[in-house]
Amino acid sequence: MIQLIGVGKRFGQFEALKQVSLEVRRGEKIVLCGPSGSGKSTLIRCINRMEEHTSGRIIIDGRELTDRTKDINAVRREVGMVFQSFNLFPHMTILKNLTIAQRLVRKTPEKEAKEVAMHYLKRVKIPEQASKYPVQLSGGQQQRVAIARALCMKPQIMLFDEPTSALDPEMISEVLDVMVDLARDGMTMICVTHEMGFARSVADRVMFMDGGQLIEEGDPETFFANPRNERTALFLRQIL
Ligand code: ATP
Ligand code: MG
Repeated sequence: MIQLIGVGKRFGQFEALKQVSLEVRRGEKIVLCGPSGSGKSTLIRCINRMEEHTSGRIIIDGRELTDRTKDINAVRREVGMVFQSFNLFPHMTILKNLTIAQRLVRKTPEKEAKEVAMHYLKRVKIPEQASKYPVQLSGGQQQRVAIARALCMKPQIMLFDEPTSALDPEMISEVLDVMVDLARDGMTMICVTHEMGFARSVADRVMFMDGGQLIEEGDPETFFANPRNERTALFLRQIL
């Protein structure tokens, strides 16, 4: 489903990703963790084409990411992304936030786009917020809207970049619950998060990144109990 072969990313002289190789099968859930600046966001931004990798190969569902623009839209349709900072359109209602991309990218008719939007708003348990504006919602509600907005595009893969780290503690679980539901439904997911309870309950594999490299991976059980690498162990001591 997702294949990275020796992927590198340079910003000028700086190597943010070094020879990253990774394969994610359909339906698999990956949790990616690591210290600040280790390259986690860069890695997932390369997968959804918000950044261009500078070496190696990235293949999504059989389609190799190259510099041709026609691929970008195809990738964006298949790969949904949720950010730390929600990134909702502030001047649009929640409903409009959920229909706009369907209308523009998928050319979905208005009525159908609204039905799809309401379906996913129900799934994230806030259908009653449809006519409000983002600023009128709590952080947890806004993040659930952002997840619903990504789902409206019917992606094959969902990428999450620290979706709960900007939230007040009492709102974290409502967002994690939605992500757990999505995982149970079989979505292919890569989640950058330090929520280790989430990692334990849904991840097939936990991966640790440091200095632009994937240092270690394992099933949650082994990864947390017996990290092989010293840097992984040090990191886990700091966050657990
Ligand atoms: P955090 O946990 O703080 O979000 P991260 O693991 O997501 O960290 P990245 O955002 O991927 O880290 O950044 C990896 C490295 O690449 C950092 O050293 C960062 O300064 C650098 N970097 C990221 N984006 C750019 C850019 N657009 N230009 C130059 N350097 C960048
Ligand atoms: Mg980051």
